[in-house]
Amino acid sequence: MALKFITDESFGLLAKDKKVLARFDFNVPMDKNDPTKIADTTRVDEALGTIKTILEYKPKKLILMSHFGRPKGKIDPNFSLEPVAKYLAEKLGLEVVLTETALDRGIKTLLNLNEPKIIMLQNLRFHQEEEGNDREFARSLAAYGDVFVFDAFGAAHRKHASTYEINAFFKNKAFGGLLLKKEVESLEKIVKDPAKPFVAIVGGAKVSDKIKIIEALLISVDKLLIGGAMAYPFLKAQGFSIGHSLCSDEDVSLAKRILATPAKNKIVLPSDHIASETFGGTPIEIGNASIPEAMIGLDIGPATLQNYCDHLNKAKTVLWNGPMGLFENSQYAAGTFGIARALSNLENAFTLVGGGDSVSAVNASGLAEKMSHISTGGGASLEYIENGSLPGIQALKFGID
Ligand code: AMP
Repeated sequence: MALKFITDESFGLLAKDKKVLARFDFNVPMDKNDPTKIADTTRVDEALGTIKTILEYKPKKLILMSHFGRPKGKIDPNFSLEPVAKYLAEKLGLEVVLTETALDRGIKTLLNLNEPKIIMLQNLRFHQEEEGNDREFARSLAAYGDVFVFDAFGAAHRKHASTYEINAFFKNKAFGGLLLKKEVESLEKIVKDPAKPFVAIVGGAKVSDKIKIIEALLISVDKLLIGGAMAYPFLKAQGFSIGHSLCSDEDVSLAKRILATPAKNKIVLPSDHIASETFGGTPIEIGNASIPEAMIGLDIGPATLQNYCDHLNKAKTVLWNGPMGLFENSQYAAGTFGIARALSNLENAFTLVGGGDSVSAVNASGLAEKMSHISTGGGASLEYIENGSLPGIQALKFGID
């Protein structure tokens, strides 16, 4: 069974004059100084294409739903979707009515009125049944719509009522949205027969969080370039000194395990560093792989960056997850921004950036437009690469009983 999208003709036939229930990922970061202001609207902007496409099919109603933050199953005004509803109304030039909760009695009445066309359910996570993947909660949500659209790629790795169980009520009436389509098509270029050479760059802070993706990638990549604090356990496992750099014993054991396999030959590690005597202090260039005892490694060095760029310049497929150093501090951003620049200059390669911090780094470098695809779901994109799909996508594709 193939995954069906809202671009399929069958969707138009099912949606016209009917109620379309659509799940998005509106879990946006808020401005720390102004809790009513959305700090980064990307996730809502990415949903606009799907919303506009659904409206073109002239449904009777469009019911939007999403989670937002972690209100832990309780109604909490700090996690209201109101800023999102307001922003969407502005962007669409249409009224968007936000319900008090996802289970309001008034919703039934709203569904029977001619106006408004767009209803947004309040934060699904005000109900503990959402994260509990509760069948009855899913049934209540499903009752609002005749057709279901799933576009919450960022939440597709979760088995929750609105991402998973809900599919039990929409046999042959469940479709993926445009964002989901773009994400899946891009990730398939990495997961299935990536154009070779395939080079992955993995950075960031914790080996244990990324061990599964490293192991999955080592099967298909030609080279795996490791940077950021991820590199230190690997260097330590090979007998290099790493000073006081971020590194746990558990991570060293995991690194040893990987280095004991033949895939070791695919791994490329830093040969020089930018370090400091204090975290974020004055940068000092260390011209070899060993970091002196009193120092902390905070970025890859220039020779490493050059070597990594040489590998990238030969690649036809590139996956990047995780920064090469403490890039939030401009003194330690050269490695990360250098990688972003190298990717932006690749003309004949497919470049996919996945994972929260590498996405922030690419945005900060001003080179986002030059990447083939930037995934909106950090955790979701990594799990997709590890497992070849996600629970929310499998349920959408095959339905559940
Ligand atoms: P992750 O969420 O695992 O991708 O980690 C991203 C974080 O790792 C960013 O906040 C980086 O500043 C941090 N990071 C990367 N390299 C280093 C390093 N050498 N030392 C300390 N933190 C680092």
